[in-house]
Amino acid sequence: MAYDTNNVFARILRGELPCAKVYEDAHTLAFMDIMPQADGHTLVIPKEAAENIYDLSPEAAAALMMTTQKVAKAVKKAMDAPGLMLAQLNGTPAGQTVFHIHFHIIPRAAGIDLKLHARAMENPEKLKAFAERIIAALD
Ligand code: 5GP
Repeated sequence: MAYDTNNVFARILRGELPCAKVYEDAHTLAFMDIMPQADGHTLVIPKEAAENIYDLSPEAAAALMMTTQKVAKAVKKAMDAPGLMLAQLNGTPAGQTVFHIHFHIIPRAAGIDLKLHARAMENPEKLKAFAERIIAALD
């Protein structure tokens, strides 16, 4: 399938849609998931137009993983997360719903189940407050 230049993350990258931004550099962007599965659920995307892991250039893959590690450390610290789950879905059968590759960073704690994937919209003010906490925890 050809990359859809109007997918929501491409639109966020072009500034056409808002996001609760956590981190940005020349190659990547991190922001709060609008329908989080847990408090602090953060997404990391490359600026390169790639639908999935198969399409991504090795250089963009390296940048994506470096930012994912950097932001994961900040999410863990900011949310005081005992555990942290990374997820990256390729293709509809795997559950991918936005066709611009991204890593999910999701805080986990024993006894707390994940909320359903991409189901309930979070209050934007709450997302902004989490983003501010994560930004403050970045090295
Ligand atoms: P996927 O199913 O492709 O792995 O994950 C897509 C993620 O993007 C979901 O967790 C969903 O909640 C999130 N999402 C969908 N639309 C938007 C949006 O417009 N803004 C933000 N920040 N997240 C979104």
